[in-house]
Amino acid sequence: MNKRITVALAGNPNSGKTTIFNTITGSRQHVGNYPGVTVERKEGVRTHKGNQLRITDLPGMYDLTPESPDERVASEHLVMSNPDVVVGIIDCTNLERNLYLAVQLRELGSPLVLAFNMSDQAAEQGIKFDLDSLSAALGVPIVLTVGHKGAGIGELLDAVVDVARRNDEHRALFVDYGDHVEDEVAGIEEVMVKNNGHMPKHQRRWRALKLFENDPFVIETSSSPEVDAALQAALERLRSKTIADPMVSITSRRYDFISGLCGEAVVMPEARQGGRSSRADKILTHNLFGLPIFFGMMFLVFQLTFTLANPIADRIELLFGWLGGQLILLWPSGASSPLMSLVVDGIIGGVGGVIVFLPNIVMLFMAISILEDSGYMARAAFLMDRLMSKAGLHGKSFIPMLLGFGCSVPAIMATRTLDTRRDRFTTMLVVPLMSCSARLTIFALIIPAFFAPKWQGPGLWIMYLIGIVLAISVANILRSTLFKGEPSAFLMELPSYRMPSPRSILTHMWSRAWLYLRKAGTVILGVSIVLWAMAAFPRHPGLDAGTAAGPSAFAGGTEVTAEDARQTEQLSYSIVGRIGHVMEPLIRPMGFDWKIGTALVGAFAAKEVFVAQMAIVYSVGESEGGSEALRGKLRAEYPPLVGFCILLFALIATPCMATVAIVRRESNSWNWALFQFGGLTALGYVLTTAVYQIGRLLGIGI
Ligand code: GDP
Ligand code: MG
Repeated sequence: MNKRITVALAGNPNSGKTTIFNTITGSRQHVGNYPGVTVERKEGVRTHKGNQLRITDLPGMYDLTPESPDERVASEHLVMSNPDVVVGIIDCTNLERNLYLAVQLRELGSPLVLAFNMSDQAAEQGIKFDLDSLSAALGVPIVLTVGHKGAGIGELLDAVVDVARRNDEHRALFVDYGDHVEDEVAGIEEVMVKNNGHMPKHQRRWRALKLFENDPFVIETSSSPEVDAALQAALERLRSKTIADPMVSITSRRYDFISGLCGEAVVMPEARQGGRSSRADKILTHNLFGLPIFFGMMFLVFQLTFTLANPIADRIELLFGWLGGQLILLWPSGASSPLMSLVVDGIIGGVGGVIVFLPNIVMLFMAISILEDSGYMARAAFLMDRLMSKAGLHGKSFIPMLLGFGCSVPAIMATRTLDTRRDRFTTMLVVPLMSCSARLTIFALIIPAFFAPKWQGPGLWIMYLIGIVLAISVANILRSTLFKGEPSAFLMELPSYRMPSPRSILTHMWSRAWLYLRKAGTVILGVSIVLWAMAAFPRHPGLDAGTAAGPSAFAGGTEVTAEDARQTEQLSYSIVGRIGHVMEPLIRPMGFDWKIGTALVGAFAAKEVFVAQMAIVYSVGESEGGSEALRGKLRAEYPPLVGFCILLFALIATPCMATVAIVRRESNSWNWALFQFGGLTALGYVLTTAVYQIGRLLGIGI
């Protein structure tokens, strides 16, 4: 009875595959109410009735014939790794289009179970199915499901185990493509058998068909000179029988088959048009108001990230402050040992300084995931398409760019949904301009230091807007130089609006929070320790050796200025200081001194390190009032113009280490990764210098 069953989840984009995957396996993969979120295979395990199910979530696809790299991952998996059971996830509010893939899976002979997902919405819209006759006609079990509520999942798993147990040679579904095409398909099948013996028997007809459909994958794997010759001859004969393009006639026959099926077994409500979704769309995607509404919404989102998050951030701050204070009190050798400085300044100061911004990040993601889940973001993509196509960017690029607000790494992976290399590379190169959540920590530190409370939300909004505008402009330049060519058409479908599910929003927030904490506990912790050591050593010989090891500044509040001066001298003498001084002439034109410079170097490891490093440089352990104290020191030392320049440079320049690595992997070349790194850094340098110099000339913010 104990069996291992491999299961693949396949279906159209946005049909709820990942939702069902998460429900079955308890994972927390990203779910979004728009196509193109899942671009890689994801694996998970679940035991059901003593069987071990190994489940793979696949990127979405409309057709078994792949066009973009992510679709190719999916179709290769379905054709080559022969999963024991394929679960076809069907958005049953859009049955005919979704069945197009399911029918192909049956033609391929995959052991299939269909999940009619979104059945709650279908019921709400008054769509009715005759499941028995659909199931009989397609020769597959069908289960109604509601992915995010878990309804029907038990039955679905029962059906999966059942199909796997039957374990018979699965008879492929036969769709009749008309005498002319059928004759030629049979002919090719024969040639293929002669030339390629090991092809699975039930896939023969399907592979022959796919050659006529121009499937690049099948052409690669089952073609040979003999097959090619036979195919050319067959195409010639078909042309003489007025079938100029067999692909078109196969597609339309397949659709005819599906509409025949649905005509009998599906009852559509009378008036499908004019539902809630399309009424809302009249306003939200309006020609004139659409974009202002979108930017207004984003404005609210950023306002929210400050007003809701800051009170919570203050609590966390207090907690770290208390922790640092307790440690100092309890430390056996008093307030001066280097080890204590490491713990209090380096670790609590550095890592704590970063964790403080967790609420800002969680709030931003709450807002974004509400917009995503409701279906609004897909409209935003649609609206932005008009702007972006002017820049030669593909509308589908909006999704990777949107993901870029989270982190550039998954965003760059999401460019796999783009069909042409041109579109893909342009998008990949500009994605880091979409401000990621790590930069949000820099903004969240610097903005309140220099902006009055009521300007903080708007300030943040402006930073994100600058990023978007730059991304579109740079893309425009790339499209008219390196990647010339017509943009391909935008075909994203608009999903229907739905109530965001609290569970999916909470999971999203939690997984973001967890990623952030994990990063704080690993990369940022490590880098903070190294940076602390580089700031604390070598020791300045002239300073009183008995006190103040490291850049620690626990002078008890009385002689702060003397202590500050001593600290600065030590820092100047340390490795960090020396690196900073070497850099200083280079960054002076942007208004930066060597302290900012060293923090910017650390930020290459991870953008959050900038904040940790500032805290270490100014050695404000959390016990001294944390980020508020740090902001005070920044305010005292730099004019607002420099504050803005820090924001600008952090936004544009030097994508982090992880971004460089992922661009190298996805573009398969160091050249593109370095080109992006150098290009963005140069852009950041030039723009920041211009802003600083012009600002100084005009006397703004100095
Ligand atoms: P995928 O692209 O196929 O992986 O689709 P996702 O799993 O990312 O889901 C797309 C959207 O549909 C998300 O907003 C889900 O919350 C939502 N969703 C998934 N299943 C259902 C369902 O059964 N009913 C409703 N109403 N929404 C669903
Ligand atoms: Mg998905």
